[in-house]
Amino acid sequence: MASETTLILFKPDCVQKGLTGLVLDRYLKAGFRIRGLKMLEATDELLNEHYAHIASLPFFPEVQSFMKEAPIVALALEGEDAISRVRDILGPTDSSEAASGTIRGDFGAKDGDSKMRNICHASDSPEAAAAELKRFFGEGEVFA
Ligand code: ADP
Repeated sequence: MASETTLILFKPDCVQKGLTGLVLDRYLKAGFRIRGLKMLEATDELLNEHYAHIASLPFFPEVQSFMKEAPIVALALEGEDAISRVRDILGPTDSSEAASGTIRGDFGAKDGDSKMRNICHASDSPEAAAAELKRFFGEGEVFA
């Protein structure tokens, strides 16, 4: 197993529901280490780049406006197999299909918004993690 660093975003629903500390605690208790942490407001430019893979889909404008409802929190987390383990702890995209005990299963929307209001984003591959860490953290903002 290799140590990896991945990007997690606490989405506006996480921040609005007051879950920032609780969700972070789950990841820290799972053994991950914080290498970078910041709060920011997402811009259209940032979201167009971050969500380029869904930008042509009909629900994208709704996702874009959701992601600007409140500030978000960006985290660089390090640990063994972090990329896949962080996503396992998060659960699948649709919160209504996420198992209880996962972050999305426990805190994500269970209504018609369950595919969108799903608490966190997490990088899904080493390539995505490298690009996304660079997108959200400047030089010197991810610590050793
Ligand atoms: P994930 O965040 O689980 O990697 P995707 O990369 O497929 O999922 O989608 C990016 C984000 O777009 C999701 O986390 C969710 O907020 C939103 N999304 C995905 N599919 C839908 C959908 N069918 N309707 C509304 N929002 C969606």
